Amino acid sequence: MSKTPQCQSCGMPMNKADEFGIETDGSASEKYCIKCYDNGQWTNGEATFDEFYEISLRGFQNSDMNKVQKYFLNKMYTKKFLKKLDRWK
Ligand SMILES: [Zn+2]
Repeated sequence: MSKTPQCQSCGMPMNKADEFGIETDGSASEKYCIKCYDNGQWTNGEATFDEFYEISLRGFQNSDMNKVQKYFLNKMYTKKFLKKLDRWK
């Protein structure tokens, strides 16, 4: 079984086909999720690292995760974590 790919921009695990970003040719991105990357472009390309972090954290907190998942999210979803992803290296 292969490991769940993780968006290399925001860190979201990508489980379903519709969670993957889309390249300009319409194919699925192997690295980035649809919230970050659509039609071969960043959906929030203007954002600085700090702004992106805030946007992304808020997005997760407003998602349909349960309380326990959100508890762990708040612990692990730090700027340090985000910096390890390919986009921010
Ligand atoms: Zn993403």
